Amino acid sequence: MLEAEVTRTNYDTWLQDTAGLSFDHGLFTVGVPNSSSQQWLEKRLRSRIKKILMDIMGEEEVKLEFKVYPSASVEKPSAVNSPFNPKYTFDTFVVGDSNRLAHAAAMAVAEGLGKTYNPLFIYGGVGLGKTHLLQAIGHAAFHRGTNLLYMSTDKFINEFINSIKRNRVDEFSYKFERIDALLIDDIHFISGKEQTQEYLFHTFNELHNTNRQIVFTSDRHPRALPLLEERLRSRFEWGLTCDIQPPDLETRLAILRRKAEDLSVDIEEDALEFIARRVQRNIRELEGSLNHVVALAALNKVPPDLELARSVLQEMEQRKPIPPEMIIDTVASYFKLETPLLRKGEGRKQPVARARQVAMYFLREEAKLPLLEIGRLLGGKAHSTIIHGCERIVLEVDTNPKLREDIIEIKRRIYGQKL
Ligand code: ADP
Ligand code: MG
Repeated sequence: MLEAEVTRTNYDTWLQDTAGLSFDHGLFTVGVPNSSSQQWLEKRLRSRIKKILMDIMGEEEVKLEFKVYPSASVEKPSAVNSPFNPKYTFDTFVVGDSNRLAHAAAMAVAEGLGKTYNPLFIYGGVGLGKTHLLQAIGHAAFHRGTNLLYMSTDKFINEFINSIKRNRVDEFSYKFERIDALLIDDIHFISGKEQTQEYLFHTFNELHNTNRQIVFTSDRHPRALPLLEERLRSRFEWGLTCDIQPPDLETRLAILRRKAEDLSVDIEEDALEFIARRVQRNIRELEGSLNHVVALAALNKVPPDLELARSVLQEMEQRKPIPPEMIIDTVASYFKLETPLLRKGEGRKQPVARARQVAMYFLREEAKLPLLEIGRLLGGKAHSTIIHGCERIVLEVDTNPKLREDIIEIKRRIYGQKL
């Protein structure tokens, strides 16, 4: 409405990124991106906006405030309005006995940041919905106007270590100063990272002392985390610690029904039940199996029925993971290196270092090994070295035709051997 009343430039500069945040007991809150637009609006448009609002609301009087709009940062921005993954909301989370408590706790925390359980520590196995819940908290809180920081533990470690190297720890710390909530995914990766643990300990205290919310996810209970400083472990347990268990049959079925609905596919109930019975431990796999059945049905123009589900799952179960040893051997022989040289931590010189990065990449992408395990296989390399190695390959493969050729040929050899 205001768009018609102010000049284009003024609109673009001051109004474009504003949004009505809430209307509560006659108080209308408008979110603005920064304090200069807050000042500009206060000075120039307050009365106009008020009048328009009174017209819209049909009220005699409204109060108006401009609030600096929250910002949030996460690793993978994926939606226009919220930087969180739009797939991972409370709305899309199917509740069952296995995750009821974690879900309720996450909801409570999202609604009353810093006021209920602090920290909230959610733990459980792979693919059971930890990241989903963490992002759901982020989503909900973000839309209510919170400054959030969501970070994977990998990233936390990397950025911290880099900031030390560049003598810029204060810059890194600045990230945490003005946030209302810190969400850290997969905190188990902090095992053995002494310096990062110490830093996290202090950051935790800062935030906690000022009632700011902290949420962690982890693959296990704080007491089961190895190589963790005692004082940090005890803080992990200060608030609420709750687990997510593998879903029971009923919940698995409910999840499948929900996903089928989201995909708008009509899939036979007995096909869903078949998948739910077969895939028990991991919701990501459960979803993957359904997607597979649906995709094949569309591709072959057949109904997604029990028969198709049977054959798809059978085929998927037969696909065995690629043994890491085979990957290392294949990469070594491709680069004409001795396997032990590739495996040993030493030798930073090209082409050994490059071959090792390629091995890291394949161990991660194809064998799906955890970073710690890759580090162990390649001569005790640090977690951050592995991430760096993999990232180098991922980045360079687009711009370096030789590398692309190497990757394709190695892949062919790996799968050629397997078939
Ligand atoms: P984790 O972080 O525990 O390894 P994720 O949160 O990444 O697992 O979940 C894996 C996949 O399963 C995601 O696509 C997620 O949306 C889905 N998922 C997990 N739990 C549920 C649930 N209760 N309802 C719906 N989808 C779920
Ligand atoms: Mg996760």
